Amino acid sequence: MVLMICVRRGHVFILSLEKQRTVGKHDSLEGELKCPAPAAQKGKTMSDDAKLSARRLRLKLALEDLREMKGFGTELVTLIIPPDRQISDARSMLQNEHGQAANIKSKGTRKNVQGAIESAISTLSRFKTPGENGLAIFVGSIIIGNNKSRMVNIVVDEPPQSLVSFRYRCDSRFELTQLEEMLVDKKSYALFVIDRAEAAYGIATGKRIHVQEHLVSNIMGKHRQGGQSAQRFERLIEEAAHNFFKRATEHACSYWLPHLENIQAVIVGGPGATKDFVVKNEYFHHEISKKIAKTTFDVGYSNESGVRELVENAGQLMGEIELDAERQIMNRFLEELVRAHPKATYGEMMIKQALTQGAVDTLLISEGLRGNIVELTCKKCGHGSEEKWEARLSRQQELPSCPSCDASGDAVRELASYSVIDSLGQMAEESNSQVTYISVDTEEGAQLMHGFGGLAAILRYPMM
Ligand SMILES: [Zn+2]
Repeated sequence: MVLMICVRRGHVFILSLEKQRTVGKHDSLEGELKCPAPAAQKGKTMSDDAKLSARRLRLKLALEDLREMKGFGTELVTLIIPPDRQISDARSMLQNEHGQAANIKSKGTRKNVQGAIESAISTLSRFKTPGENGLAIFVGSIIIGNNKSRMVNIVVDEPPQSLVSFRYRCDSRFELTQLEEMLVDKKSYALFVIDRAEAAYGIATGKRIHVQEHLVSNIMGKHRQGGQSAQRFERLIEEAAHNFFKRATEHACSYWLPHLENIQAVIVGGPGATKDFVVKNEYFHHEISKKIAKTTFDVGYSNESGVRELVENAGQLMGEIELDAERQIMNRFLEELVRAHPKATYGEMMIKQALTQGAVDTLLISEGLRGNIVELTCKKCGHGSEEKWEARLSRQQELPSCPSCDASGDAVRELASYSVIDSLGQMAEESNSQVTYISVDTEEGAQLMHGFGGLAAILRYPMM
Protein backbone atom coordinates (compact mmCIF):
# COMPACT_ATOMS: atom_id res chain seq x y z
CA MET A 1 0.00 0.00 0.00
CA VAL A 2 1.23 3.43 -0.83
CA LEU A 3 0.97 5.99 1.88
CA MET A 4 1.22 9.62 1.20
CA ILE A 5 1.80 12.26 3.76
CA CYS A 6 1.08 15.66 2.39
CA VAL A 7 2.57 18.55 4.23
CA ARG A 8 0.84 21.63 2.98
CA ARG A 9 1.33 24.54 5.29
CA GLY A 10 2.97 21.59 7.01
CA HIS A 11 -0.28 19.72 7.23
CA VAL A 12 0.60 16.13 7.69
CA PHE A 13 -1.82 13.74 6.18
CA ILE A 14 -1.26 10.20 5.19
CA LEU A 15 -3.60 9.39 2.39
CA SER A 16 -4.16 6.08 0.87
CA LEU A 17 -3.60 6.13 -2.86
CA GLU A 18 -4.93 2.66 -3.12
CA LYS A 19 -8.34 3.66 -1.87
CA GLN A 20 -8.17 7.17 -3.28
CA ARG A 21 -9.79 8.33 -0.12
CA THR A 22 -8.91 11.52 1.67
CA VAL A 23 -9.04 12.40 5.32
CA GLY A 24 -12.64 12.62 6.50
CA LYS A 25 -13.26 16.31 6.74
CA HIS A 26 -11.43 17.08 3.51
CA ASP A 27 -13.66 14.81 1.50
CA SER A 28 -15.32 17.79 -0.07
CA LEU A 29 -12.13 18.84 -1.80
CA GLU A 30 -12.11 18.22 -5.46
CA GLY A 31 -9.55 17.30 -8.06
CA GLU A 32 -6.04 16.11 -7.60
CA LEU A 33 -5.20 18.44 -4.75
CA LYS A 34 -5.58 16.34 -1.63
CA CYS A 35 -4.73 19.04 0.84
CA PRO A 36 -6.77 22.17 1.47
CA ALA A 37 -5.58 25.43 0.00
CA PRO A 38 -3.84 27.80 2.37
CA ALA A 39 -6.15 29.92 4.51
CA ALA A 40 -5.18 33.11 2.70
CA GLN A 41 -6.38 31.70 -0.60
CA LYS A 42 -9.71 30.86 0.94
CA GLY A 43 -10.17 34.48 1.82
CA LYS A 44 -9.42 34.03 5.49
CA THR A 45 -6.77 36.14 7.04
CA MET A 46 -3.95 34.82 9.07
CA SER A 47 -1.11 37.11 10.02
CA ASP A 48 2.22 36.42 8.33
CA ASP A 49 3.79 35.67 11.68
CA ALA A 50 1.11 33.16 12.60
CA LYS A 51 1.39 31.56 9.18
CA LEU A 52 5.13 31.31 9.49
CA SER A 53 5.00 29.80 12.95
CA ALA A 54 2.41 27.27 11.77
CA ARG A 55 4.65 26.34 8.83
CA ARG A 56 7.64 26.04 11.11
CA LEU A 57 5.87 23.84 13.63
CA ARG A 58 4.52 21.58 10.92
CA LEU A 59 7.92 21.26 9.36
CA LYS A 60 9.30 20.44 12.78
CA LEU A 61 6.77 17.64 13.21
CA ALA A 62 7.44 16.26 9.73
CA LEU A 63 11.18 16.29 10.39
CA GLU A 64 10.74 14.46 13.68
CA ASP A 65 9.27 11.58 11.68
CA LEU A 66 11.58 11.84 8.65
CA ARG A 67 14.71 11.77 10.80
CA GLU A 68 13.70 8.41 12.24
CA MET A 69 12.94 6.77 8.91
CA LYS A 70 15.40 4.27 7.52
CA GLY A 71 15.37 1.98 4.50
CA PHE A 72 16.79 -1.56 4.15
CA GLY A 73 19.15 -0.45 1.40
CA THR A 74 19.75 2.77 -0.47
CA GLU A 75 16.09 2.88 -1.35
CA LEU A 76 14.84 6.11 0.12
CA VAL A 77 14.39 8.81 -2.49
CA THR A 78 14.83 12.48 -1.63
CA LEU A 79 13.74 14.98 -4.25
CA ILE A 80 14.13 18.68 -3.57
CA ILE A 81 12.89 21.24 -6.07
CA PRO A 82 13.72 24.89 -5.42
CA PRO A 83 11.16 27.50 -6.52
CA ASP A 84 13.07 28.46 -9.67
CA ARG A 85 13.07 24.94 -11.13
CA GLN A 86 10.40 23.51 -13.39
CA ILE A 87 8.32 20.57 -12.27
CA SER A 88 8.67 19.15 -15.78
CA ASP A 89 12.49 19.12 -15.46
CA ALA A 90 12.21 17.15 -12.25
CA ARG A 91 9.76 14.75 -13.83
CA SER A 92 11.96 13.97 -16.82
CA MET A 93 14.92 13.51 -14.51
CA LEU A 94 12.92 11.02 -12.45
CA GLN A 95 11.88 9.16 -15.58
CA ASN A 96 15.52 8.92 -16.55
CA GLU A 97 16.46 7.70 -13.06
CA HIS A 98 13.70 5.11 -13.27
CA GLY A 99 15.36 3.73 -16.40
CA GLN A 100 18.78 3.77 -14.75
CA ALA A 101 17.39 1.88 -11.75
CA ALA A 102 16.75 -1.08 -14.05
CA ASN A 103 20.50 -1.75 -13.74
CA ILE A 104 20.35 -2.26 -9.96
CA LYS A 105 21.50 -5.83 -9.30
CA SER A 106 19.53 -6.67 -6.19
CA LYS A 107 16.00 -7.49 -7.20
CA GLY A 108 14.46 -6.22 -3.96
CA THR A 109 16.32 -2.93 -4.07
CA ARG A 110 15.50 -2.44 -7.73
CA LYS A 111 11.81 -3.02 -7.10
CA ASN A 112 11.75 -0.63 -4.14
CA VAL A 113 13.73 2.13 -5.86
CA GLN A 114 11.60 1.97 -8.98
CA GLY A 115 8.45 1.88 -6.86
CA ALA A 116 9.62 4.96 -4.96
CA ILE A 117 10.42 6.83 -8.18
CA GLU A 118 7.04 5.96 -9.66
CA SER A 119 5.36 7.21 -6.52
CA ALA A 120 7.38 10.46 -6.69
CA ILE A 121 6.40 10.97 -10.34
CA SER A 122 2.75 10.49 -9.49
CA THR A 123 3.08 12.99 -6.64
CA LEU A 124 4.68 15.54 -8.96
CA SER A 125 1.68 15.36 -11.27
CA ARG A 126 -0.36 17.08 -8.54
CA PHE A 127 1.78 20.19 -8.78
CA LYS A 128 2.00 22.72 -11.58
CA THR A 129 4.82 24.68 -9.95
CA PRO A 130 7.08 24.08 -6.96
CA GLY A 131 5.36 27.00 -5.14
CA GLU A 132 6.92 30.12 -3.69
CA ASN A 133 9.40 28.27 -1.47
CA GLY A 134 9.85 25.07 -3.42
CA LEU A 135 8.85 21.49 -2.87
CA ALA A 136 10.44 18.49 -1.17
CA ILE A 137 9.33 14.90 -1.66
CA PHE A 138 10.47 11.95 0.42
CA VAL A 139 9.45 8.53 -0.85
CA GLY A 140 10.46 5.00 -0.07
CA SER A 141 9.99 1.81 1.81
CA ILE A 142 10.86 2.40 5.46
CA ILE A 143 11.68 -0.16 8.13
CA ILE A 144 9.03 -0.31 10.86
CA GLY A 145 10.24 -3.16 13.00
CA ASN A 146 11.11 -6.82 12.62
CA ASN A 147 11.95 -7.05 8.95
CA LYS A 148 8.78 -5.20 8.11
CA SER A 149 8.59 -2.20 5.92
CA ARG A 150 6.01 0.20 4.63
CA MET A 151 5.93 2.69 1.83
CA VAL A 152 5.78 6.36 2.72
CA ASN A 153 5.40 9.36 0.48
CA ILE A 154 5.90 12.59 2.36
CA VAL A 155 5.48 15.92 0.65
CA VAL A 156 6.73 19.11 2.22
CA ASP A 157 5.35 22.00 0.24
CA GLU A 158 5.22 25.60 1.36
CA PRO A 159 8.19 25.23 3.70
CA PRO A 160 8.83 28.27 5.92
CA GLN A 161 11.76 29.39 3.74
CA SER A 162 12.97 28.89 0.22
CA LEU A 163 14.68 25.65 -0.68
CA VAL A 164 18.03 26.55 -2.18
CA SER A 165 19.41 23.75 -4.29
CA PHE A 166 17.97 21.00 -6.42
CA ARG A 167 18.63 17.52 -5.03
CA TYR A 168 17.89 14.00 -6.10
CA ARG A 169 19.29 11.32 -3.89
CA CYS A 170 18.83 7.63 -3.16
CA ASP A 171 20.09 6.59 0.26
CA SER A 172 19.16 4.56 3.30
CA ARG A 173 18.02 7.81 4.95
CA PHE A 174 16.32 10.91 3.68
CA GLU A 175 18.41 13.99 3.08
CA LEU A 176 17.05 16.67 5.37
CA THR A 177 19.81 19.28 5.64
CA GLN A 178 18.03 22.04 3.73
CA LEU A 179 14.87 21.60 5.75
CA GLU A 180 16.71 21.27 9.06
CA GLU A 181 18.39 24.62 8.44
CA MET A 182 15.04 26.32 8.18
CA LEU A 183 14.29 25.44 11.76
CA VAL A 184 17.25 27.36 13.10
CA ASP A 185 15.51 30.38 14.55
CA LYS A 186 17.17 33.37 13.01
CA LYS A 187 15.64 36.26 14.94
CA SER A 188 18.05 37.08 17.71
CA TYR A 189 19.12 39.67 20.23
CA ALA A 190 22.66 40.13 21.43
CA LEU A 191 22.90 40.47 25.21
CA PHE A 192 25.69 42.05 27.20
CA VAL A 193 26.04 42.84 30.92
CA ILE A 194 29.04 44.48 32.51
CA ASP A 195 30.48 46.25 35.56
CA ARG A 196 34.04 46.69 36.71
CA ALA A 197 34.23 43.27 38.32
CA GLU A 198 32.68 41.01 35.71
CA ALA A 199 30.88 40.73 32.41
CA ALA A 200 28.80 38.20 30.53
CA TYR A 201 27.30 38.02 27.09
CA GLY A 202 25.17 35.81 24.96
CA ILE A 203 22.32 35.76 22.58
CA ALA A 204 18.56 35.36 22.79
CA THR A 205 17.37 33.47 19.77
CA GLY A 206 13.69 33.00 19.37
CA LYS A 207 12.78 31.53 22.67
CA ARG A 208 16.18 30.55 23.99
CA ILE A 209 18.66 32.50 26.03
CA HIS A 210 22.21 31.34 25.53
CA VAL A 211 25.01 32.71 27.74
CA GLN A 212 28.25 32.25 25.86
CA GLU A 213 30.83 33.44 28.36
CA HIS A 214 31.27 34.95 31.82
CA LEU A 215 34.44 37.03 32.28
CA VAL A 216 35.97 38.24 35.52
CA SER A 217 38.27 41.26 35.77
CA ASN A 218 41.16 41.46 38.19
CA ILE A 219 40.71 45.17 38.78
CA MET A 220 39.31 44.82 42.29
CA GLY A 221 42.15 42.59 43.32
CA LYS A 222 44.80 45.21 42.68
CA HIS A 223 46.49 46.54 45.77
CA ARG A 224 48.63 49.57 45.88
CA GLN A 225 52.22 48.52 46.28
CA GLY A 226 54.88 50.23 48.35
CA GLY A 227 56.54 53.05 46.48
CA GLN A 228 53.67 53.46 44.04
CA SER A 229 52.21 56.90 43.90
CA ALA A 230 48.48 57.25 44.31
CA GLN A 231 48.29 58.68 40.81
CA ARG A 232 50.26 55.88 39.27
CA PHE A 233 48.09 53.36 41.11
CA GLU A 234 44.98 55.11 39.83
CA ARG A 235 46.35 55.01 36.30
CA LEU A 236 47.11 51.29 36.57
CA ILE A 237 43.60 50.64 37.79
CA GLU A 238 42.12 52.56 34.88
CA GLU A 239 44.38 50.75 32.48
CA ALA A 240 43.26 47.40 33.88
CA ALA A 241 39.65 48.53 33.60
CA HIS A 242 40.20 49.62 30.02
CA ASN A 243 41.78 46.27 29.19
CA PHE A 244 38.92 44.40 30.77
CA PHE A 245 36.25 46.40 28.90
CA LYS A 246 38.20 45.84 25.71
CA ARG A 247 38.57 42.11 26.31
CA ALA A 248 34.91 41.61 27.22
CA THR A 249 33.56 43.63 24.28
CA GLU A 250 35.97 42.01 21.84
CA HIS A 251 34.97 38.52 22.95
CA ALA A 252 31.32 39.42 22.65
CA CYS A 253 31.72 41.07 19.25
CA SER A 254 33.63 38.19 17.74
CA TYR A 255 30.87 35.90 18.96
CA TRP A 256 28.10 38.07 17.51
CA LEU A 257 29.66 39.20 14.24
CA PRO A 258 29.08 35.97 12.28
CA HIS A 259 25.36 36.27 13.21
CA LEU A 260 25.20 39.99 12.58
CA GLU A 261 22.53 39.95 9.94
CA ASN A 262 20.16 38.05 12.20
CA ILE A 263 20.72 40.23 15.22
CA GLN A 264 17.80 42.58 15.70
CA ALA A 265 19.45 44.63 18.44
CA VAL A 266 22.25 44.58 20.96
CA ILE A 267 20.97 45.03 24.49
CA VAL A 268 23.35 46.23 27.16
CA GLY A 269 22.87 46.19 30.92
CA GLY A 270 24.67 46.11 34.24
CA PRO A 271 24.43 47.20 37.87
CA GLY A 272 26.22 50.55 37.56
CA ALA A 273 27.52 53.24 35.25
CA THR A 274 30.06 51.00 33.49
CA LYS A 275 27.49 49.83 30.91
CA ASP A 276 26.91 53.37 29.65
CA PHE A 277 30.63 54.15 29.79
CA VAL A 278 31.41 51.17 27.58
CA VAL A 279 28.71 52.10 25.08
CA LYS A 280 29.71 55.80 24.93
CA ASN A 281 33.40 55.12 24.58
CA GLU A 282 32.97 52.93 21.56
CA TYR A 283 34.38 49.72 22.90
CA PHE A 284 32.16 47.71 20.59
CA HIS A 285 32.95 46.92 16.96
CA HIS A 286 31.46 49.66 14.76
CA GLU A 287 29.08 47.22 13.03
CA ILE A 288 27.83 46.05 16.41
CA SER A 289 27.59 49.64 17.71
CA LYS A 290 25.03 50.45 15.05
CA LYS A 291 22.70 47.90 16.58
CA ILE A 292 23.04 48.84 20.24
CA ALA A 293 19.68 49.73 21.73
CA LYS A 294 19.46 53.35 22.93
CA THR A 295 18.33 52.33 26.40
CA THR A 296 20.59 50.40 28.74
CA PHE A 297 19.14 48.36 31.56
CA ASP A 298 19.87 48.01 35.28
CA VAL A 299 20.38 44.45 36.43
CA GLY A 300 21.71 43.07 39.72
CA TYR A 301 24.77 41.21 38.48
CA SER A 302 26.99 40.99 35.44
CA ASN A 303 26.93 37.23 35.21
CA GLU A 304 24.68 34.57 33.76
CA SER A 305 21.75 35.52 35.97
CA GLY A 306 22.32 39.13 34.95
CA VAL A 307 21.91 38.17 31.31
CA ARG A 308 18.62 36.49 32.12
CA GLU A 309 17.51 39.46 34.19
CA LEU A 310 18.40 41.66 31.23
CA VAL A 311 15.97 39.76 29.04
CA GLU A 312 13.24 40.27 31.64
CA ASN A 313 13.95 43.97 32.07
CA ALA A 314 14.28 44.58 28.37
CA GLY A 315 11.11 42.60 27.67
CA GLN A 316 9.22 45.65 26.48
CA LEU A 317 11.98 46.48 24.05
CA MET A 318 12.25 42.93 22.85
CA GLY A 319 8.49 42.78 22.49
CA GLU A 320 8.87 40.91 19.23
CA ILE A 321 10.54 38.03 20.97
CA GLU A 322 7.97 35.32 20.98
CA LEU A 323 8.92 34.34 24.49
CA ASP A 324 7.33 37.48 25.78
CA ALA A 325 4.26 37.16 23.62
CA GLU A 326 3.84 33.60 24.85
CA ARG A 327 4.03 34.64 28.48
CA GLN A 328 1.50 37.38 27.91
CA ILE A 329 -1.05 35.15 26.25
CA MET A 330 -0.58 32.40 28.83
CA ASN A 331 -1.10 34.96 31.58
CA ARG A 332 -4.26 36.19 29.87
CA PHE A 333 -5.50 32.60 29.92
CA LEU A 334 -4.52 32.04 33.57
CA GLU A 335 -6.13 35.29 34.71
CA GLU A 336 -9.32 34.39 32.90
CA LEU A 337 -9.36 30.90 34.37
CA VAL A 338 -9.67 32.07 38.00
CA ARG A 339 -12.74 34.23 37.33
CA ALA A 340 -16.21 33.18 38.43
CA HIS A 341 -17.38 32.69 34.84
CA PRO A 342 -14.14 32.11 33.00
CA LYS A 343 -13.85 32.78 29.30
CA ALA A 344 -11.27 30.03 29.24
CA THR A 345 -11.04 26.27 29.10
CA TYR A 346 -8.47 23.52 28.67
CA GLY A 347 -7.99 19.82 27.95
CA GLU A 348 -8.65 18.05 24.68
CA MET A 349 -12.30 17.16 25.31
CA MET A 350 -13.36 20.63 26.41
CA ILE A 351 -11.34 22.30 23.67
CA LYS A 352 -12.92 20.17 20.98
CA GLN A 353 -16.36 20.96 22.34
CA ALA A 354 -15.56 24.68 22.45
CA LEU A 355 -14.20 24.61 18.89
CA THR A 356 -17.29 22.84 17.62
CA GLN A 357 -19.49 25.48 19.28
CA GLY A 358 -17.40 28.25 17.77
CA ALA A 359 -16.61 29.53 21.24
CA VAL A 360 -12.83 29.70 20.88
CA ASP A 361 -11.24 33.09 20.42
CA THR A 362 -7.63 31.96 20.72
CA LEU A 363 -6.43 28.39 20.84
CA LEU A 364 -3.18 27.79 22.69
CA ILE A 365 -1.39 24.67 21.50
CA SER A 366 1.75 23.45 23.21
CA GLU A 367 4.56 22.68 20.82
CA GLY A 368 5.24 19.69 23.07
CA LEU A 369 1.95 18.07 22.10
CA ARG A 370 2.49 14.90 20.06
CA GLY A 371 0.46 12.15 18.58
CA ASN A 372 -0.99 11.00 15.32
CA ILE A 373 -4.56 10.04 14.79
CA VAL A 374 -4.77 7.13 12.39
CA GLU A 375 -7.95 6.10 10.61
CA LEU A 376 -8.08 2.35 10.13
CA THR A 377 -10.17 -0.26 8.43
CA CYS A 378 -10.32 -4.04 8.58
CA LYS A 379 -10.35 -5.76 5.19
CA LYS A 380 -11.61 -8.97 6.69
CA CYS A 381 -14.77 -7.83 8.49
CA GLY A 382 -15.07 -4.29 7.23
CA HIS A 383 -14.71 -2.73 10.66
CA GLY A 384 -13.98 0.98 10.24
CA SER A 385 -15.49 1.24 6.79
CA GLU A 386 -18.79 2.70 7.93
CA GLU A 387 -18.13 3.97 11.43
CA LYS A 388 -14.78 5.65 11.85
CA TRP A 389 -12.14 3.50 13.54
CA GLU A 390 -9.47 5.81 14.89
CA ALA A 391 -6.37 5.07 16.90
CA ARG A 392 -3.53 7.12 18.34
CA LEU A 393 -0.30 5.77 16.90
CA SER A 394 3.16 6.99 16.08
CA ARG A 395 4.45 6.51 12.54
CA GLN A 396 6.84 3.85 13.77
CA GLN A 397 4.23 1.75 15.56
CA GLU A 398 2.59 -1.28 14.10
CA LEU A 399 -1.10 -1.09 13.38
CA PRO A 400 -3.38 -2.64 16.06
CA SER A 401 -5.50 -5.72 15.46
CA CYS A 402 -9.17 -5.44 14.62
CA PRO A 403 -11.40 -5.01 17.71
CA SER A 404 -14.29 -6.83 15.94
CA CYS A 405 -12.73 -9.94 14.41
CA ASP A 406 -9.24 -9.82 15.93
CA ALA A 407 -7.61 -9.91 12.48
CA SER A 408 -4.16 -8.41 12.31
CA GLY A 409 -1.28 -7.92 9.90
CA ASP A 410 -2.20 -7.18 6.30
CA ALA A 411 -5.91 -7.25 7.05
CA VAL A 412 -5.68 -3.96 8.93
CA ARG A 413 -5.12 -1.01 6.63
CA GLU A 414 -4.33 2.60 7.33
CA LEU A 415 -6.68 4.96 5.51
CA ALA A 416 -5.33 8.23 6.75
CA SER A 417 -3.21 9.74 9.45
CA TYR A 418 -2.83 13.25 10.77
CA SER A 419 -1.19 14.85 13.77
CA VAL A 420 -3.27 15.93 16.75
CA ILE A 421 -1.88 19.44 16.38
CA ASP A 422 -2.98 19.59 12.75
CA SER A 423 -6.42 18.25 13.38
CA LEU A 424 -6.98 20.89 16.07
CA GLY A 425 -5.42 23.62 13.92
CA GLN A 426 -7.83 22.65 11.17
CA MET A 427 -10.81 22.81 13.53
CA ALA A 428 -9.65 26.20 14.74
CA GLU A 429 -9.39 27.50 11.21
CA GLU A 430 -12.90 26.34 10.46
CA SER A 431 -14.28 28.21 13.47
CA ASN A 432 -12.22 31.33 12.70
CA SER A 433 -10.25 30.99 15.90
CA GLN A 434 -6.71 32.22 16.21
CA VAL A 435 -4.03 29.69 16.96
CA THR A 436 -0.94 30.40 19.03
CA TYR A 437 1.79 27.82 19.41
CA ILE A 438 3.43 27.93 22.80
CA SER A 439 6.92 26.54 23.34
CA VAL A 440 7.85 24.56 26.41
CA ASP A 441 10.81 26.87 27.02
CA THR A 442 9.08 29.24 29.40
CA GLU A 443 7.64 28.44 32.81
CA GLU A 444 4.21 29.35 31.47
CA GLY A 445 4.73 27.11 28.45
CA ALA A 446 5.76 24.18 30.64
CA GLN A 447 2.63 24.78 32.68
CA LEU A 448 0.48 24.57 29.55
CA MET A 449 2.10 21.29 28.59
CA HIS A 450 2.14 19.61 31.99
CA GLY A 451 -0.70 21.33 33.85
CA PHE A 452 -3.27 21.67 31.09
CA GLY A 453 -2.53 18.73 28.80
CA GLY A 454 -0.93 20.94 26.17
CA LEU A 455 -4.19 22.57 25.13
CA ALA A 456 -5.95 25.67 26.34
CA ALA A 457 -8.26 28.27 24.91
CA ILE A 458 -9.36 31.81 25.56
CA LEU A 459 -13.06 31.84 24.77
CA ARG A 460 -15.40 34.34 23.17
CA TYR A 461 -17.91 33.74 25.97
CA PRO A 462 -18.02 31.65 29.17
CA MET A 463 -19.06 28.07 28.53
CA MET A 464 -20.35 27.31 32.00
ZN1 LIG B 1 -12.10 -7.17 11.52
